[in-house]
Amino acid sequence: MKGQINVKTENIFPIIKKFLYSDHEIFLREIVSNAVDASQKLKTLVSLGQYNEAVGDNTIDVVLDKKKKTLSIIDRGIGMTKDEVERYITNIALSGAEEFIEKFKGKDAEEAANLIGHFGLGFFSAFMVSDKVEIDTLSYQGGEAVHWSCDGSQEYDIEEGKWTERGTKITMHIAKESEEFVEESKILELLKKYCRFMPVNIRFGKEKIWVDDEEKKDKDGNPERVQKEQDRIINNSNPLWKQKPADLKDEDYLKFYRELYPMNFDEPLFHIHLNVDYPFNLTGILFFPKIQKNIEPTRDKIQLYCNQVFVTDSVEGIVPEYMMLLRGVIDSPDIPLNVSRSYLQSDASVKKIAAHISKKVADKLEQISNNNHEEFEKKFEDLRVFIQYGMITDEKFCEKMEKIFLFRNTEGKFFTMEEYKNKIEVLQKNKDKHLIYLYTSNTDEQYSYIQAAKDKGYDVLVMDGILDNHFINMLEQKLKDSHFTRIDADVIDKLIAKDEEIPSKLSSEECEKVKTLVEAVVDKQILNVQTQSLEQTAKPMTITQDEYMRRMRQMYETGNSPMASLYGNMPLTYNLVVNTNHPLIIEALNSEDIEQQTNILSQLKDLALISQGLLKGKDLETFIERSIGIIK
Ligand code: ADP
Ligand code: MG
Repeated sequence: MKGQINVKTENIFPIIKKFLYSDHEIFLREIVSNAVDASQKLKTLVSLGQYNEAVGDNTIDVVLDKKKKTLSIIDRGIGMTKDEVERYITNIALSGAEEFIEKFKGKDAEEAANLIGHFGLGFFSAFMVSDKVEIDTLSYQGGEAVHWSCDGSQEYDIEEGKWTERGTKITMHIAKESEEFVEESKILELLKKYCRFMPVNIRFGKEKIWVDDEEKKDKDGNPERVQKEQDRIINNSNPLWKQKPADLKDEDYLKFYRELYPMNFDEPLFHIHLNVDYPFNLTGILFFPKIQKNIEPTRDKIQLYCNQVFVTDSVEGIVPEYMMLLRGVIDSPDIPLNVSRSYLQSDASVKKIAAHISKKVADKLEQISNNNHEEFEKKFEDLRVFIQYGMITDEKFCEKMEKIFLFRNTEGKFFTMEEYKNKIEVLQKNKDKHLIYLYTSNTDEQYSYIQAAKDKGYDVLVMDGILDNHFINMLEQKLKDSHFTRIDADVIDKLIAKDEEIPSKLSSEECEKVKTLVEAVVDKQILNVQTQSLEQTAKPMTITQDEYMRRMRQMYETGNSPMASLYGNMPLTYNLVVNTNHPLIIEALNSEDIEQQTNILSQLKDLALISQGLLKGKDLETFIERSIGIIK
């Protein structure tokens, strides 16, 4: 018997082929997941007592015939009656398409591509890769078997079939331009990608494995290794995230991590087992990987599933940005399956899921911080970038993290933000009653500055992470009357501006003279000479870099500032602060010997540059020669 596919407009198949999915390969996921659905439905009928016959093995078979260029999916599910084939395949399945075509009229291709993401055409995706699709099916209710076939035109054949087993066989005659799908390796790859955790066993031919043969022993009495053929089951039908957390040990999670990311050899810091049934259904396991100081684009990403069917692992725009640093799986029946990415991103339930997960992640971090603070401190350096990223980009997450975020000082001690504020409350207030947080971005390069601060009784934070500049900017907006100042932003006496002035030993004319003398020995393009009356014990000359100028430049370098072009053209400059109270400076000023005067000032200037790692090349050589001369 012939029938007409119930669509009033022109042939829809060319449109399906062109626009439905940019990824043709997902046809396999659609057809296999229908087979899984049919098998699950049978199980439900059994549990409801509506099917009392033997169920038998419900393994789904994927069969490739390279000669005939066909790919078949065979299930032992509920099957379909003739009536059901008409209803579910030819009418219902296409109503989505029909609606699409109505909307498609008069739109350009790009708009159409956006539109089509809303319509899931599961079964019909087979036509993206096939010239002809056949269905052989026998319903669990018995009756006649049905044979249906369609070559992608509007006509289809339906007649009594010869299928004798309960269930359905879908046969796809792979089209010439889709020949990659008759390659065994390709099909195996796709099954592994989309069907790896589907809940019913899926068999794809046989595989050879090596086993011990206890019958045959070698001369040492060890069993011989022999090859054995067995069914190739491509999936794990009971993945860890579907199991009860109470039944699982840490090792199980680690094993699962390895199963998910076989190419990754690190160990996750900890995991979160998600198990939500209200206000929506969600299961999953998230892993916190160790995050390196420089965030690399991750290869091993979070995978989204819908009832154990793989949806996507490109979660950009679906989960908050910082969560992309996590790994693991999220499974929810509310994640729409056969829609486009752009649709997934705008889907309301997906947004709710993402917000919920974000909350769970924050809760878990809080819980570890509260219940096992020692462990939290130990892992904090590895978690730091993740938490900062979240705090910078997500207001709600930030609110929660403010309580548990840890500062680390140069002594390696950790403090919550509240604790640290109290710690520096007394000493590190400037004359305007603002708190000054001192920090270093490099404990080696800024060693002498750190030392000087410690001598004053100040505390110095280590802020050497990739996100610290952004993080500091954010904190300054958040914390009232607080500033972050890098340890080399000024000479130590001025770093935290206090009221008391240190009296100058030189008159202002003498100070001017010192300035002129020093300027004569420096490269004025790079060094901006300043004189200041500091403690005698302070260094005679110090290199500093104004905090705000430096931040501007850093912003320019990371390309985030509208002022970029302005700062881009300016050479990198530093301040050279000359301590006019230092005995060596006074000695140089009073020296009658011009050569000696120049030598002292040049030497002091070079020492200042060296302590910032700024003396290089020819200048360094000149310094060494001069130093040798002094020793002689
Ligand atoms: P969906 O799976 O979202 O319902 P599909 O287009 O993938 O949409 O399938 C349409 C319908 O065809 C299914 O709902 C089901 O009733 C029927 N169907 C498809 N494949 C099978 C199968 N292997 N066994 C039984 N019924 C099937
Ligand atoms: Mg389907």
